Amino acid sequence: MDDLSNTTLLQPDEPPAFEVVNPDGKSAAFLICDHASNRIPRKLGTLGLSEAERADHIAWDPGAANMARRLSEQLDAPLVLSGYSRLVIDCNRPLDSTQLTAPVSGGVTVPGNSSVSTEDRAARIAELHRPYHDTIEAMLEARGGRPTLLLSIHSFTPELDDGPRPWRIAIAYGSDDRLARLLIPALREDGTVVGDNQPYSVAAWSDYSIPVHGERRGIPHVLVETRQDGIRTPETAAAWADKLADAYRRTEAAALRLG
Ligand SMILES: [Zn+2]
Repeated sequence: MDDLSNTTLLQPDEPPAFEVVNPDGKSAAFLICDHASNRIPRKLGTLGLSEAERADHIAWDPGAANMARRLSEQLDAPLVLSGYSRLVIDCNRPLDSTQLTAPVSGGVTVPGNSSVSTEDRAARIAELHRPYHDTIEAMLEARGGRPTLLLSIHSFTPELDDGPRPWRIAIAYGSDDRLARLLIPALREDGTVVGDNQPYSVAAWSDYSIPVHGERRGIPHVLVETRQDGIRTPETAAAWADKLADAYRRTEAAALRLG
């Protein structure tokens, strides 16, 4: 038998590539969280980054997992969360993206990604990216014709090169804005400043989850980004999740008539 130890990334005692929460949830909502964790496989050490850099938004979407878990509870919706840092492999990048294993992220050089060998890249894909997406695909497939609305839960940093960002929460989409057109006005009803494809939009060259699981399947979808300073604690993340759940409930019936 070949010795595969050089190409195996995760060790048997490490957490799996993804976590499924409430798989039998009854909601039409199906939740995913691509950047839920900043965990790095032991074999890759720290990727050459400081503790502060590994805790920063370049490694994950702070607050997004707490928000997604609360939303799953509130809506009784299935949720799939990625188990490892986007710096190890970004589960929301196409496999041919230069940002899949980003050598530089948010202006920070990632030494552990400066020269990822073909074998190491293949292992990151096979052990992290693929199992996460295969699970989402299998769960969506298993729903058969059951009504489904896909919500991809992210968070964004309050400030970047483009300066301070006014939006508290943002709805992003690509070629299919059907669910966005319903959810954005519902979120704005109480005066909340809601980004409409700002600060990010969705495109097949830069994104993976929405194009593959939403657009290709024809499932109405949105990518939801909440500003990180609003969801720093489990309590504040829960409050934003509740607000989103409320807007979702008010739009669900109309949204299901789209599909
Ligand atoms: Zn994200």
